[in-house]
Amino acid sequence: MLSAATTASAIIDGLVVSSPRTTGAGTDTSLEYASGRSSNVKTLIPLVLAIAGGLVLCGAAVLIAQPNSLSSPEAIESAQKAPVTNKDLGVTVTPEMKEHSRLLDILYFVTFLYGLAVTVLILATGLSRRMRDAAFRATNRKFVAAMLYFVLFSLVSALLTFPLDWYSGFSVPHRFDLSNQTFGEWFLEQLKQFGISILIAAPLVALALMGIRKMPRRWWLALWLGTIPVTLLLVLAQPLIIDPMFNKFEPLKNQVLAQRLLDTAAKAGISGGRVYEVNKSKQTKTMNAYVNGIGPSKRIVMWDTLLAKMTEDEVVFVMGHEMGHYVMHHLWKGIAFTMAVLFFVFFAAKKLLDLALIRFGPAWGLSEPSDPATVPLLFLVLSLITFALSPVFAGYSRSVEHQADIFALELTRLNEPGARAFIKFAEDTKLDPEPNRFIEIWRYSHPALARRIAFALAYKPWERGEPNRLWKGK
Ligand SMILES: [Zn+2]
Repeated sequence: MLSAATTASAIIDGLVVSSPRTTGAGTDTSLEYASGRSSNVKTLIPLVLAIAGGLVLCGAAVLIAQPNSLSSPEAIESAQKAPVTNKDLGVTVTPEMKEHSRLLDILYFVTFLYGLAVTVLILATGLSRRMRDAAFRATNRKFVAAMLYFVLFSLVSALLTFPLDWYSGFSVPHRFDLSNQTFGEWFLEQLKQFGISILIAAPLVALALMGIRKMPRRWWLALWLGTIPVTLLLVLAQPLIIDPMFNKFEPLKNQVLAQRLLDTAAKAGISGGRVYEVNKSKQTKTMNAYVNGIGPSKRIVMWDTLLAKMTEDEVVFVMGHEMGHYVMHHLWKGIAFTMAVLFFVFFAAKKLLDLALIRFGPAWGLSEPSDPATVPLLFLVLSLITFALSPVFAGYSRSVEHQADIFALELTRLNEPGARAFIKFAEDTKLDPEPNRFIEIWRYSHPALARRIAFALAYKPWERGEPNRLWKGK
C-alpha cells in the first residue's frame, strides 16, 4: 500500500524537480519511512540481485527516456549547439545554489539509509513483535489488532525519523529562506498529514494482511490488483478531499489573465473552469503549478507565489506546460506505467520477503507474512526495490515533462518567456540548473533547468515550416 499512497500523491509538478516534502498536502510522506536494510550476506544476495535488475531496467529506461529523445533531430542539434553559459541564460549559478543542491542530494540518500536503519532497529530489537503482542492483548479481532499495530508502528517510526524530517522539512528551507512557516505551523501541518495518512493506511494495511493470510502463495498478485482501485480512488479524492484540508483553492482572481488562460486552454482543447489558484504563500516562498485529479476532479492548479513573481507571458507558458499534461493524459499514463512496474515489484517483494523470513524470522519473532509484526519487513523489501527503481520512475517522468515543454512551446510559441520562466525557477528554488548527470538520472523528475532553457530557446519548428509534434491545433 506504500505504493498506492505514493502514487496517489503524484501530481505532475510544473517546472522544478519535485521533492515529496515540498508538495504539501497528501499521503506521500508518512509511509515512506517504511524501509530498512539488512547486514546479512545471505539476504543481501537476493537484494543485490534485485538492485542489479533495477539498474539494468533503469539503463533501459534512461535510454528510452532521454529528455531530448522526443524532439526532432534538428531541435536536439540546435539545443545542443545553443550556448548554455550563465551569461547567455541570464542566470547566475551562485555558490548558494550549488550548496543547496548538494545538501538536498545528500539528504535524499541519507533519508533513505536512515529510514532503513530505523526499520531494522524496530525489527531487530523485538519492538515490532512486542507491539504486535500489545495489539493482540487489547483485542482478539485480527483486523482491529492489525490496525492498532500499524498505528503503534507508525508512531514509533515517526518519532525516530522526526529529527531528520525537521532538518530537511523545516531547517533547510529556512536556512535558504524558502519557507513562510513558523515552527508551530510546520509542526501542525506535519501532525495533520500524519493523522490523515494513518486514517487511510491503517485499514488498507489490515486489509492487505487479510489478503496475505487468505492467499499465502498468490498474495503478491492480490495486493497488486488491490492497489489499482485504491490508487484510482486516492488520485480522484486528493484534490477534492485531501488538498483542501491544507490550502484554499479558488478560481483565478486576475480577470485579464484568467481570460487569456481560458483562450489558451480553449486552443489546447480544454473546456474552461478547470484552473485554480491556491494560497501556497501560506507555506512557501517558492513557486509552482501542477495538474492532479482524474475524471471529475481533474484540474490545473497555480500557486499564488507563481502569479506574484512572473510576467503574464511567463505564466501563460507555464500553464501551457500544464495544459500539455492535461491534454496528453499524463496522469492516466503515469498510473498505468506505475502499475506495470509494480506488478514486478510485488512479485519480487514476495520472493524477498520469504527469504528474509527464513533468515531473520526466528531471531526477530516473526513467523509468517500475514503476521502484523512482519509489516516493517515487507515495507523494507518494497522500499529497497522501489529505491533501486528510482531511475526508472525518474526517467519516465523526465520524458513526460519534456513532452509538456514541447507542447507548451508549440501552443504558445513563447520561447523567450519560457526560458525566462525556467531561469526564475532556478533562482527562486535556489537549485543548480546544471546538476550532476548521475543525480539527474537517478532522481530528477524534470530535465535539468539548463537543458530546458536551451531547449525553450531553440525549439521553433514553425520557423522552418515544419509540423508540430504534439499540439495539432491551429
Ligand atoms: Zn510538468
